[in-house]
Amino acid sequence: MDANKIPTPQPIDLIYPDNAPEAFHLLAKPTGAICNLDCAYCFFLDKEHLYPGSQFRMTDEVLEQYIRQLIESHRADQVTIAWQGGEPTIMGLDFYRQAMDLAEKYRRPGMTFLHTMQTNGTLLNDDWCAFFKEHNFLIGISIDGPAELHDIYRVDKGGQPTFDKVMRGIRLLQKHGVEFNILTTVNRVNGDYPLEVYRFIRDEIGADWMQFIPVVERINENGLTLYQEGNTVSDRSVLPEQFGRFLSAIFDEWVRRDVGRVYVQTFEAAIRNWVSMPSSGMCVFNETCGQGLAIEHNGDLYACDHFVEPNYHLGNIRDEHMIELVASEPQLRFGQDKRDTLPHYCLECDVRFACHGECPKNRFIETPDGEPGLNYLCAGFKQFFHHIDYPAKIMTGLIRRGRPAAEVMPLLAAEEAKFKAALAQANRNDPCPCGSGRKIKQCHGRPQLKSPPRKPLPKPEQRSTLPLRLPE
Ligand code: SF4
Ligand code: SF4
Repeated sequence: MDANKIPTPQPIDLIYPDNAPEAFHLLAKPTGAICNLDCAYCFFLDKEHLYPGSQFRMTDEVLEQYIRQLIESHRADQVTIAWQGGEPTIMGLDFYRQAMDLAEKYRRPGMTFLHTMQTNGTLLNDDWCAFFKEHNFLIGISIDGPAELHDIYRVDKGGQPTFDKVMRGIRLLQKHGVEFNILTTVNRVNGDYPLEVYRFIRDEIGADWMQFIPVVERINENGLTLYQEGNTVSDRSVLPEQFGRFLSAIFDEWVRRDVGRVYVQTFEAAIRNWVSMPSSGMCVFNETCGQGLAIEHNGDLYACDHFVEPNYHLGNIRDEHMIELVASEPQLRFGQDKRDTLPHYCLECDVRFACHGECPKNRFIETPDGEPGLNYLCAGFKQFFHHIDYPAKIMTGLIRRGRPAAEVMPLLAAEEAKFKAALAQANRNDPCPCGSGRKIKQCHGRPQLKSPPRKPLPKPEQRSTLPLRLPE
């Protein structure tokens, strides 16, 4: 694109508000809620109701305002320019070429960009991947596990499975050497298959960076999932204990063979909290939040990607400069409320240092003594954080002594070998060498229960028949 076609805006005298952060994260949604797929649990598809009659395409004018203000708002030298949807590739490649030109146009000396995009991967081709490589994009690909798990909810507008198309996109990224990571949503079905999902991502896809996001889909009074309202969840939502088991099972495999070579975002965040680092690296496991905002196709800025709804609308960047909105009182309050609205049950919780009540969007159940505001996933997080306490403490000790956390693997292996040897030599009526105080026959010597048979998997789901405009 000819950069001369972009009118140069008048320079502005930007006075940073007192509370303005040096840097922040902003997810841009240039297509709003519009996606070429129809994933049954996608909380964002219903957001089209927020903008009735909209074309859901970011205009050139909003794009330029967005890039310019994002750069101006940063005092840090690195700026993350992040695209998400809906499905951001629907905008077509020229839109992003224009965005790159604009970033160059407004770049300050010494400033670098981290370009990221979260995509379902189904529309990728060689041109897209060459473009990503040229600009060092970090691509997030959404996939829910092997085909039989992925295709249950992640279907296209005709209700057809999408696994093959996603894998095709992944292979293209790999062919072009584009850096990518995997985002897996954990739902009521794949939540029962932790190791199948983890091994698939690690071994079949060959990814070494992954994140697991729980599906918690609140059903509003009108049956939509438009707002974070209501205290009932869809039957696609993962169950709290199920999510705890899911994470624990993957952690057990990871901590024995993959530390240092496979990066699982939740585990990294947990260990960072055990080590008492200033940030876990995940907003949900930090004490406060509020620096992960979302911008809609028309320039509307919202407090968070999960709160794109009228009560959390901060303003529009065509009316007010982005940094004024990011540092505004409502946004600061939004972030601090994560800490300040925790119920007593959380304040007294022994794993609060790791959990911090997780995300406010999931806090809609009551504590055992009837106080509102407990996280729906609490039971799962409690179980998971207790489950990893011992290896997490070993890793914490290693890190504090300047040793690689990966040394936890041989340490655990040696302990387990010693334990097995002690168990083999002991009598069934001896105290169990695990230290539980129970006899071996009532503890680690108990006959193993057979795993229950797996349930038959449900059929793929379809939700809407929205018309779709693909790029020419
Ligand atoms: S509301 Fe949840 S997802 Fe949004 S910034 Fe806060 S912790 Fe993160
Ligand atoms: S585990 Fe439960 S009680 Fe503890 S901080 Fe998390 S949500 Fe609160």
